[in-house]
Amino acid sequence: MEASLARLRGAGTAQRPMNARALAALAANPGCRRRALLDGAGVDKGAVAERLGAPMPFGQSQFALVRGNGFEARVRSDGWRALLAAAGAPEGVDAWLPELVDGAAGAASGAAEERLRLTREALVEARGAAAARGAWSVLDHPLLELEVAGAPARLEPDAVLVRPDGRVQVAEVKSFPVLDGSADPAKVGAAARQAAVYVLALREVLDADVVADEVLLLCPKDFSNRPVGAAVDVRRQVAVTRRQLRRMARLEEIAAELPEELTFDLRLRPAPDGSRRQVATRDPEELRAAVEAVPASFAPECLADCELAAHCRADARGCGSLESLGRGVRGELGGLHTLEDVRAAVDGEASGEAAELLRAAAAMRGAALAEVRRGV
Ligand code: SF4
Repeated sequence: MEASLARLRGAGTAQRPMNARALAALAANPGCRRRALLDGAGVDKGAVAERLGAPMPFGQSQFALVRGNGFEARVRSDGWRALLAAAGAPEGVDAWLPELVDGAAGAASGAAEERLRLTREALVEARGAAAARGAWSVLDHPLLELEVAGAPARLEPDAVLVRPDGRVQVAEVKSFPVLDGSADPAKVGAAARQAAVYVLALREVLDADVVADEVLLLCPKDFSNRPVGAAVDVRRQVAVTRRQLRRMARLEEIAAELPEELTFDLRLRPAPDGSRRQVATRDPEELRAAVEAVPASFAPECLADCELAAHCRADARGCGSLESLGRGVRGELGGLHTLEDVRAAVDGEASGEAAELLRAAAAMRGAALAEVRRGV
């Protein structure tokens, strides 16, 4: 399998490692084979999009980064008291904070293996302390591992809480605010998908029933920098991500349906200016044909987290696909797949519930427009 995935990436092209955000984004659009294949093969989708002339402006602004880092530093500065409060710990209780990595080890080669080992040991020790004396423990930025398409992905949750009953809970610090008790549902959804990836990774180290299905999110309250916590049930996100991971383990099957010579090789060459930069030399049209050979399933949600979104949106619009209008519209219109199908249904060339609804809507629109013209 590795040989064919390497061919998809292109000879000599390093595999792009998966992180929790990328894995979470996979769960946001589980029906997309294009994304599953490119991510599984470790293709740099951002570089592909750039070569196709359709890059996406991802990344946080400098202001948002500074604000986010400041908020996280504040949450960590007092021994994670806000996390303990959100978890229902008695007031004034201190958590044990195991040392997971020191600065020197963090920079040394093999540090990841060392951090993985320290995380495993700290989890065992914290659960032992919970059983022996009802201790609360917080693992600050532990390192976990999850196999993705046959390769290990290293994942770093903000914190893992070990409760006195031995249960282990993922905690994430997010800088989006909770205003009057509620937060942006899209941001909460993205955070829940990301936390679900950590839940799965923890279940590689611990028994599944030890790891809580509820994760804790810590966000700034209203317009202050004061943290407030909320529990989010991620069972659905865990199930979707698990399915996606199984699917990625069968990438060979997706690849087998594609032309044998298919590759997303960007033909990287050193930049002529003598810098260490590399430039892509692959013919964009050839690359476009390769990308479009893999079925995609565009939805407006892709715009939030997939580097290929601008390309796939143009592609979906170009063929009149209803998917570019969102899953809601797609669901409402049942068996209709393209704008052409919709026009035909409105013109009476199709039957079915969706076609009847469309004709009724078109009649109502026509009547409303007629009234406007008459100045009613
Ligand atoms: S943008 Fe394209 S490749 Fe990415 S998830 Fe959406 S349809 Fe799939």
